[in-house]
Amino acid sequence: MILDGKNDLKQNELIMRLNGLIWRSEMNHKRILHFSILTISCILLISCSSSPTGRTQMILKSEVALEQEGARQFRKLRESLPLVRDPVIIDYVACVTNAIVDVVEGDSANLYWELAVVDQPDVNAYVLPGGKIVVNNGILTMATNQDQLAAVIGHEVAHVTARHANERASRAAITGVGVDIAAIILGGGYRNQTQGAREALSTGAALGLLNPFSRLQESEADILGIEYMAKAGFDPRESVELWKKMNAKNSSKIPEYLSTHPSGETRIDDLIAQYPSSLEYYNIAKSDGLRPSCDS
Ligand SMILES: [Zn+2]
Repeated sequence: MILDGKNDLKQNELIMRLNGLIWRSEMNHKRILHFSILTISCILLISCSSSPTGRTQMILKSEVALEQEGARQFRKLRESLPLVRDPVIIDYVACVTNAIVDVVEGDSANLYWELAVVDQPDVNAYVLPGGKIVVNNGILTMATNQDQLAAVIGHEVAHVTARHANERASRAAITGVGVDIAAIILGGGYRNQTQGAREALSTGAALGLLNPFSRLQESEADILGIEYMAKAGFDPRESVELWKKMNAKNSSKIPEYLSTHPSGETRIDDLIAQYPSSLEYYNIAKSDGLRPSCDS
């Protein structure tokens, strides 16, 4: 697939007509507070729903409004960031993305998924509400085969299907943290926080109520992401290989409690715990003839 200079994904190519955590028993006081806020909000506002993994979520914001904001931010990013021009690279990332989005089910089936491949060396990828995926080509130095790239894309797609941006924005609203909505939706990258979020979030907010929730979302995106990649015919075991490399590179990584992401070790353990189901999905995909050849 050849894309134009702005990385537009044509309607039939990446409109991706999608055919479609875990509550821990050891709750510290912050978690109890979170739970109380969530519960009270749910009772008062009747705004609870379930994520694709069955986790209870508080959804207060208009999904349509977030999608519009996501599209607006995406346009701005495409205008301001250096985009990759090499059609081979764009086709490769789009091929993996198409395969992942094809297996997603539910309301996200109607989203207009778009992709921007950015010419930046940082190992980073993130997603905006409404299915606007941004991938730095720097991530290809780490995700060195299509299965590892699928692990990245699957994770980002999962943030959208699980409505994590809405959840974060809803949380910010009820906790009175004056966080810019753009920072919230931009804060889901592979670095600990994207620059925009880092600048906009105060230290208190970054270390306060938002973080544990975000890490929960990150873990959920991992669980969903490995499912998506396996259903699309990518080898889910490569997600672990990717994170081993990430760990090796990030020897001076930020301590886990400061990060919005689980530590690499936790992440790898959690991904391996998903092998029974993800390998089953993978084997079904293979028997159905689903085995993308994006890097051939
Ligand atoms: Zn993430």
